[in-house]
Formats: sequence, C-alpha cells, structure tokens
Amino acid sequence: MFRLALRRSRLEIGSPTASPVGPTRARLGIVAAVMVTLLLLGALAFVYWKTRPLNEQAVVEISSHLRVLKELEARWDTILLRATTDTERGYESAVNLVPTVGKTLRALQQSATRLQTATLREKLPDMIGAFQEKNAVTVSFLSEANFVSTNLPEVQQWFTEYLSALRTTRQVDATTQQSLLNLDRIATQAAADLSAFVIDGSVERANSINSALNGIGEAQPDYTTPRLTSARDSLVKLGREVVGRKQLAVELLKVVSDSTAGRELDQVIVGFEAELRAAATEQQFYRTVLIWYAAALLGLLAFAGWRLAQSYRLLNRANDALQDVNESLDRRVTERTQELSSALAELQLSETQLIQSEKMSSLGQMVAGVAHEINTPLAYVKNNLGMVDDRLGSLVDLVEHFDRLLRMLQSTDTPEDQLRDQFSRVDRDLEALRNRNTLGELALLVQDGLHGIDRIAEIVLNLKDFSRLDRLKVQVFDVNHGIESTLLLARHLLKNAEVRKVFGTLPPVVCAASQVNQVFLNLITNAAQAIEERGPGKGLITLTTKAVGHSVMIEVRDNGKGIPPDVLPRIFDPFFTTKETGKGTGLGLSISFKIIDQHKGKILVHSRVGEGTTFTVLLPASQPSAVADAPEDAASDGQSPADPVAAPVSAAQAGVDSPRTPTALPTS
Ligand code: ADP
Repeated sequence: MFRLALRRSRLEIGSPTASPVGPTRARLGIVAAVMVTLLLLGALAFVYWKTRPLNEQAVVEISSHLRVLKELEARWDTILLRATTDTERGYESAVNLVPTVGKTLRALQQSATRLQTATLREKLPDMIGAFQEKNAVTVSFLSEANFVSTNLPEVQQWFTEYLSALRTTRQVDATTQQSLLNLDRIATQAAADLSAFVIDGSVERANSINSALNGIGEAQPDYTTPRLTSARDSLVKLGREVVGRKQLAVELLKVVSDSTAGRELDQVIVGFEAELRAAATEQQFYRTVLIWYAAALLGLLAFAGWRLAQSYRLLNRANDALQDVNESLDRRVTERTQELSSALAELQLSETQLIQSEKMSSLGQMVAGVAHEINTPLAYVKNNLGMVDDRLGSLVDLVEHFDRLLRMLQSTDTPEDQLRDQFSRVDRDLEALRNRNTLGELALLVQDGLHGIDRIAEIVLNLKDFSRLDRLKVQVFDVNHGIESTLLLARHLLKNAEVRKVFGTLPPVVCAASQVNQVFLNLITNAAQAIEERGPGKGLITLTTKAVGHSVMIEVRDNGKGIPPDVLPRIFDPFFTTKETGKGTGLGLSISFKIIDQHKGKILVHSRVGEGTTFTVLLPASQPSAVADAPEDAASDGQSPADPVAAPVSAAQAGVDSPRTPTALPTS
C-alpha cells in the first residue's frame, strides 16, 4: 500500500515533465531552430560570396594584355607595310611584332584561366585562334617580303647590267640597233615599274613587269654578246621570282588585313568591359543587401538574446521549483521509508507471532495426540497397580501370620493348641493364595505395568525424536525413520485412514530433522483432514519414499477431497486456508515450502477434485563427505537452514504440478 502510494506521488510530481509530448515538441523546436540558423547562415554566406571582388590582378592583367593586343592590332598593317617599304627599321619592328603578339596571347590565355567570365570563356579562344592564324600568315608574309627586299637590289643591278650590255653593243647594223633600242626601252620601263611595284604591289604593274621580262627573255637579237646573254638570263630569272614573291607577299598582306582578329578582339574587349561593369554593379547591389541583411540578423540576434535571457530566467525559476519539489520528495521518501520500515518491522513481528501460533497449534495437536497415546498405557498401569495393591493385602496378612508363627516356635512356653491354631491359619492363607493364584497374578500385573511404562517411554522417545527441540542444527537424518516417528505422533489423526507405506532404501539426508519432520506432519495432517472432509468411509494415505538421482523423494498421496484448480495456485500463500477457524491457520504449506526451499529441495503438488492430492518433496541426498562431517549430534557448520521465520520465500519457487500462476508471498 505504501509502495503504491509512493509510486503514485512520484507520478504526480513527475507528470509535467514526464509527458511524452514535451520532449518531442522540444526536439522539433531544436531541429527547426538549427535549420533556420543554417538557412540564415547560408544566405549570409551567399550574399557575402556575391560581394567578393573579381580577381583584381587577373582583371588588370587581362585588360593590359587586351590593350597591348589592341595597339599591336592597330599598328599591325602599318608595321607590315613599313617592313616592305622601309626595309631597314620597318622590317625590324615587323619581325618583333610576331613574338610580341605570341607572348601577349600566351600571357592573356594564362590570366584568363584565373578569371571565369562568359566572354573569356566563349569568345577569347576564337579570338586567340584568329590572332595565332594572323601571326602565322604574318610570318609567311615577312618571309616573302624579306626575299623581295633582299633580292630587289640584285634585280636592279641586273637591270643596270643588262642595259649597260645593251648599250655597249650599239655599234651594229641599224636593224639590230633598233631592236636593241627597243629592248633598252622595255628594260628601262620594267626597272622603273619594278621600283614602283615594290611600293604599291599593283597587279597591273606586276603584269607589265612580267610581260616585259618575257619580252626580254624571248627577244632574239641578231647580235648578242655573252655579257648580254648572262645579264638577260639572270635578270629574267631573278626578276620573275621577285615579282612572284612580291605578289605572294601582297596577297598575304591582304589576308592579314582581312583577318577577323581585330573585330574579335574588339568584341572581347567590349564584352569583357561590359562584364566588369555588370560585376561591379552586382557587387555594389549585394554589398547593399549584405548591409541590410547583417542589420536584420543583428536585430534577430538581439531578439534571440532577449528571448534567451527570458528563457534563462524561466529556467532558473523552474529549477528552483524543481529543487523545492525534489527536497519535498526527498522528505516524503524519507518519511515513507520510515513508515515502511516500521510497517515491515510490525509485519515481521506479526508474522513471527503467527508462525509461533502455527507452531503452537501444531504443538497443541501433537500434545493432544501424545496425551491420547500415553493415556491408554497409563490407564492400565494404574489399574494394574490398583490390583497389585488389592492383592498385596492378603500377602501382608500371610507374612504377619508367618511372623507370629515363627515367634511362637522360637518361644518354649507357647501352648500346643495356640501353635496348632497358628499353623492352620497360615495354612489357610497359603491355601487361599494358591487357590487365587495371587503370586502369578501379581507377576502378570507387574509385567503388564512394566509393558505400559515401556509404551509411555517409547512415546516420549518418539516425541523427542520428532521434535529434537534441543537440536535445531543439521544432522544426518534417516527419512524413513522420520516418517515413522511422525506417524506415531499423528496416529490419533489417522483413525479414518489406512496408511500404506512404500519405503525404499534411501541415502541419508543432512538436514534439520525437527523441521523436516514438521513438513511431514503438515502433509500427513492435511491428507488426513482432506480424507475427513471428503466424507464417511476409510481413506487411503500412501507414503512413498525412494531415491531419485541425487535426491530423496517423499510422496504423500491421499484420496481425499482434492484441491479445486482456482485454489491450487494459492495453497502456498501464507494464511491461505479453506478450513474452518480453529482447524487451519493457512501457514502449514507456506512454512513447509520455506523449510524445503532452505534445504535446497523442491515441493510439488498434483491434485484432482474428488480423486485426491499428491505432494512430492525432493530433498538433496547428502554427499558422503557431508555425512561424515555431520555426526548425529553435530553442531551446525554454518550451513544450517535458518529459522523459517527469518528468510523470505517466494511461492514462485514452489513447483505446482498443475496449471497455476504462482502467487508471490509477501516478504518477511
Ligand atoms: P491449513 O492446513 O492450516 O489450512 P495449509 O497451508 O497446510 O494450511 O494448507 C492450505 C490449504 O491447502 C488448505 O486449507 C487446503 O485447502 C489445501 N490443502 C492442503 N493440503 C491438502 C490436501 N492434501 N487435500 C486437499 N486440500 C489440501
């Protein structure tokens, strides 16, 4: 009851926090708070990331490379033109152009890898490709132009040589002279055209020079000299090659001029600048957003701090309240513990008293039985002694008559007739004794009396054997002998029962004999009472003992009224009885269970209503060493079973050989 009340009071105190809804809601709240915080931090990180400046160094480098390229691109054609015309300085700067452009392109490419913008990603590769192509064409152009500018003086020398050779052969006939003059005019014109062609690269001039050179080459003057022939051949060959290479150079220059590299560069520059502007605008926007966002977060933080402080205050208050509750709980627990302790002490006291009363009841029954047993021999001993007393009167008379006769015979002055009378009196007495067989009767009466006293002595011995009140300690015990003594003492209970003994050969058991005997007495008493309660007619109690493995089995079977299934689970409960007041205390089986349990044994029950009940006790057989260590009167070696009152027992340990739920005994 106290335990229940305590549990209830705990529940009442614990109820506000013990609710399962509280922790779930709190956990959800924490999860939501963590998610919101992560979200806010994520947004902050995003906005901050958006405000970061572009890679400034890369921007500067790319812008500078683009600028250099733009300058080179703007001057490119002019530089190439100068390379062809101003052969000295022009060519030098044109030759420098190609590696400068190549270096700038490589640097640009490298810087672009550090800055990822759409323009740089999409347009820059095409533009670099176009520039590389333009650079390659420029290299070819410069090679051609170089050839032209290198070989032009030689061609001009050959023109001079050819004209000089022509002019030194003028002294021939008029026709020849005319054709030589003609050739002179053509060569002079071609030389002039060549100078102009080198500068303007016009196609007409190229054609005219080529046709002039063809004319010079094909002309067959009537008169010729080896000098003229050699000058003519060299002039025509080198002249044609220079004109051809110049034409190629012109075309290559055209390709260079038509290159899309410049336009693509412009697109990249425009796109890149637009991107830089957009990035700057976006950066500015996100900076503003960041400022506002940070301000909002600060506000939120301040609010959260305020709420936290409030919660902290509430928590403190709740903590104080909890501490108060805890203290009061502690007080209540102490009070309840004290109450429980005193209740337990009371319970133990009352259990001791009850067990004592059960013992007294058993003792009462035993005393009644013993009194009954002693009464019969005592009665006939008393009767015999009365009869002996009665017979002793005539013997005393006889002895007195003999005594007088002896004194008469010893005196000399006794008259004859008196002596004769005395003799006949003694003779009469002797005759009467002989006739009544008084001596034989007396011997028989004494013998009977002694027999009666022997019987009483035997009962007293059994009583002593049974109770062994002087020895609660363990000892070597003969179970069969224990049952015999118990039966003798319970004889008066077994008037309506036939007792059948099926005793086996048993190993000895080391136990507290008086306690085990008490178990036998309880079981035999219950069996006898069950037979009586069944109704008229003689019942049968079968007592079987046998050795089973390392145990000794004692079976008490009766054909009494049996135990109903609803009662069976409760029979080992203390104070459970179905008997009328005064006849049963309800402690017999619970004490028996306790005793057997303390002997590390088992007690089992099997019963059927109307058929009877069988109680089976299993006691561990003693090991030979234990038997040797436990002489009959040996003192306890510390392993002796304690007083049954002292130790707690649970009926769950009891084997009830029928469907039942074991009921726990209240602990003592
Ligand atoms: P008590 O004999 O004082 O009632 P026990 O503990 O010895 O107490 O027995 C408890 C109950 O078990 C009895 O009241 C009786 O109902 C039942 N019982 C015990 N032994 C038998 C038996 N051999 N036959 C029928 N019922 C029995």
